[in-house]
Amino acid sequence: MDEYLTILIIEDSPADYLFVERHLKQHGLSVQCSRVDSLTGLHEALDRESWDLVLSDYNLPDLVFLDGLRLIRTACPDLPVIMVTGAMGDEKAVELLRQGVWDFVLKDNLTRLVPAILRSLKAKRELDERRYAEERLKESEAMYRSLFENMMNGLAYCRMLFDGDTPLDFIFLNVNKSFERQSGLKHVVGKRVSEVIPGIRETDPGMFEVYSRVALTGKAEQQEIYVKALGEWFWVSVYSPAREHFVAVFDVITERKQAEELLQRKNAEIEQFIYTVSHDLRSPLVTVKTFMGYLEKDMAEDDKEHLVQDIKFIHGAADKMKLLLDDLLELSRIGRIEAEPVRVSFKDLATESLNTLAGAIKENQADIHLHDADVLLFGDRPRLCLIWQNLIENALKYGGNATPLRIELGVRQENGETIFFVKDNGIGIESQYHRIIFGIFEKLDPTSTGAGMGLSLIKRIVEKCGGRIWVESEGVGTGSCFNFTLPRVVLQS
Ligand code: ADP
Repeated sequence: MDEYLTILIIEDSPADYLFVERHLKQHGLSVQCSRVDSLTGLHEALDRESWDLVLSDYNLPDLVFLDGLRLIRTACPDLPVIMVTGAMGDEKAVELLRQGVWDFVLKDNLTRLVPAILRSLKAKRELDERRYAEERLKESEAMYRSLFENMMNGLAYCRMLFDGDTPLDFIFLNVNKSFERQSGLKHVVGKRVSEVIPGIRETDPGMFEVYSRVALTGKAEQQEIYVKALGEWFWVSVYSPAREHFVAVFDVITERKQAEELLQRKNAEIEQFIYTVSHDLRSPLVTVKTFMGYLEKDMAEDDKEHLVQDIKFIHGAADKMKLLLDDLLELSRIGRIEAEPVRVSFKDLATESLNTLAGAIKENQADIHLHDADVLLFGDRPRLCLIWQNLIENALKYGGNATPLRIELGVRQENGETIFFVKDNGIGIESQYHRIIFGIFEKLDPTSTGAGMGLSLIKRIVEKCGGRIWVESEGVGTGSCFNFTLPRVVLQS
């Protein structure tokens, strides 16, 4: 044995002490021994250094054994203590074992001493290892618990219930605070999901599929799931720590999904916008280019009559381009440049627009009907005015043969929403064009004046105000009613 052992011997007889020390050395133990024979001495020795083992006689004149043992247990709970005594009854021995003695050796049979020491040291090593492992286990448990409880992600530990391979339900075994916050579900531990959200198996079969697959195969999966029952998108990572069990780690991504969808829509709009702009700007450009060619030819031939005509076409095309570009500029300004918001009523806006268009109204002999109901708004007055102005202008433009042309301006409340409308009895719009007309440069009659930008301009203003715009029309000759909401600027209804 190579280890260097520090052994504290509680013994009042110096001769016995020396005898034991010699015995140990003779039997191959490399030891450093020390003797104490009083409680104070024991106290000091325990304080002074750390011992591998205590060998103790029973009662000494200055030290009652049980007092000594108590002291040892308090100072070093795991220190092995072997009693080296004269004869002792069985009952006493059992009692002492209960009090924390590790082994007994009789003074007149010291051959048992070395094996008893080796046994005790081995047991002590095993005890240390177990204690160490227990400590680590406790630490790691505490670490996982705090991770589980304080994680930003929602976490649910569940057991899947199957009928054969068909998932029937699952039980929440544990969930963390984030899970409760994200899902709005409280006190779910121990409950079945069918109890917590009745009908979820039918509304969200996809979710069951993923969980049961992972619980059966043990193979982790990650995916985006829309949980209809909660109305939220989740990024879920599912693991299986044990058969038929799964842990689902949740991250709510509804906002991100909405932003992605919006981005996709906007990208599509931008693509469409670029396509339309380049397409519509090209036609006047082609006209200019073509007539420049004619111009060269007619100049060479000194054909004055055609020259004038060429120049007229070039002018016309240039005017058209200017119109398109002006409208594009106006469209791009919405949302970037805003006037100071002011309080203004719907009636003020409608009246201002009607006054601006007084000439055209008179020319068309239009019959204007401004409804009584009024609403107070707080917003960018000139931009808001543009909505009514453009809609009234269109009603005048697309009046067709209606006599008299009747234009109604009003506001109504529907399902808690304030809806403004501009209604006419003009040419009407077939249902397949109800959405298209709000696109950039979209016009149903190519010969009509205007660049086909008015409605997209209005749509942009309305959307800036958090609202929507739509048209109702039974088709050609039935008139149209343009409806729109402006939730962000409506103050009172
Ligand atoms: P523009 O009037 O310059 O052509 P708009 O964007 O204002 O462009 O309108 C797009 C198209 O929608 C118009 O060309 C027209 O075909 C149709 N439209 C708009 N308003 C009406 C209306 N009140 N009645 C019938 N058709 C309309």
